[in-house]
Amino acid sequence: MPEILQPAMLSLEKSVPGRRGVRFEKPQYTPDHYLPAKYLRSHTPRLPQLSELDTVRHFTNLSRKNYCLDSHFYPLGSCTMKYNPKAYDVLSNLPPLTAAHPFAPQQAVQGTLEILYRLQEMLKEITGLSAFTLQPAAGAHGELTGLLTARAYFDHRKDKKRTEVIVPDTAHGTNPATSHMAGYQVINIKSGPDGCVDKAALQNALSERTAVVMLTVPNTVGLFEKDIRDIAERVHKAGALLYMDGANFNALLGVAKPADFGVDLMHLNLHKSFAAPHGGGGPGSGPVGAAAHVAPFLPKPLVEQKNGKYILNEKMPKSLGKMKAFFGNISVCVRAYCYLRQFDGKTLKNIAEQAVLNANYVRVCLKDEFPAFFDAPCMHECVLTLHKDKMNGVRTADIAKRLLDYGFYAPTIYFPLIVPEALMIEPTETENKEMLDLFVQALRAIFAEAATQPQTVHEAPHHQPVGRIDEVGAAREPNLRW
Ligand SMILES: *Cc1c(COP(=O)(O)O)cnc(C)c1O
Repeated sequence: MPEILQPAMLSLEKSVPGRRGVRFEKPQYTPDHYLPAKYLRSHTPRLPQLSELDTVRHFTNLSRKNYCLDSHFYPLGSCTMKYNPKAYDVLSNLPPLTAAHPFAPQQAVQGTLEILYRLQEMLKEITGLSAFTLQPAAGAHGELTGLLTARAYFDHRKDKKRTEVIVPDTAHGTNPATSHMAGYQVINIKSGPDGCVDKAALQNALSERTAVVMLTVPNTVGLFEKDIRDIAERVHKAGALLYMDGANFNALLGVAKPADFGVDLMHLNLHKSFAAPHGGGGPGSGPVGAAAHVAPFLPKPLVEQKNGKYILNEKMPKSLGKMKAFFGNISVCVRAYCYLRQFDGKTLKNIAEQAVLNANYVRVCLKDEFPAFFDAPCMHECVLTLHKDKMNGVRTADIAKRLLDYGFYAPTIYFPLIVPEALMIEPTETENKEMLDLFVQALRAIFAEAATQPQTVHEAPHHQPVGRIDEVGAAREPNLRW
């Protein structure tokens, strides 16, 4: 691959004195006419001198070096990097939505409020829960909101002994982190040999100190907690609340309602399950739903409908207060609304079925080369591991790097921690069989390379703008200056 421009050549190296993109006429006025002299630049900024064409090519070539969903399959487990229709970007950017002032009176933004209200209603229907707040800015923020809602609930009941949150080892990493941030003591429990919650361990950990049991469903090994009803019963018997991390709800959409299996609080990741492009920290939304007995403690205001008008109900005396300035990331909510409106109930169910089918297809195709750690049908993602004896010292990180050479973004690796050499693959519902077959072929080819030419895999990537970086060195001696 000819190297047109290395990222390091960030234009200063290409700079030629006197080369310009545009030339402005000399101003007729003296600059201090507008700005006091002390704010004026004393010397010319050291900017690269380039023609417009050089600059356009530089940035276009840089952008092409990027892996993105619009150009590549992106099977990053637990992230749901699926295709999201571009039309929703256009709709969520319509001026009546984006130009509204956050302090606009409610009667001036009835349309926006109606969208938010209807979205709340749809999320209630999908989950069976009684109320939803759209405030949380992302999944982890939703978890924090949920735990503080639980705290408000117990405080109201004067039940102050409950200081613990139980989190199984198959939970998403944000669960224990958020519990700690919310001021709870985190009690970790191990899962059983089937990758699900070990009920004896759970029973042991439950006590009058338990505030919340936090379950990621499906869990991070891609499995559904098949005994969730029984788990919910045990949690409730101990007087605690059951929180469900529903960030990966596209696995259950239209198939199961969390309220039916006893969930008291949960969050959804609109940016994963319901059509908002994400990654790179881009805007998210993690609405939190609550069953009737906890709903009054959710953040306020909720959007309500009264006498044909949409209102922000601030009169929620038991509410924990506010979790975010104004009303949440509305542009993400609008995309989710469009998505849910576009599909009827039956198609929503197809989304879940297709996501689950795709993950199981990859799992079964690769069973000889990369076996699933828990050998059972999975939900929206499969967690594979290595045959240590067949890999010639090739490790999961090497495979991830080599996949880049084959034109695939790497899956999530070394997570969840309970799976050695984990490869966590989430194909999502939007990929077709042809693409999955290419991905499977690439992984089979890498498996074969491990046997015959392991060095090629060890030293990958070979055809990327940046080769293997020294990750240990970078962690030990971070050079954070640009
Ligand atoms: C992504 C994810 C989260 C965190 O969501 P953010 O929006 O990144 O904060 C939490 N739990 C699970 C299961 C997830 O997949």
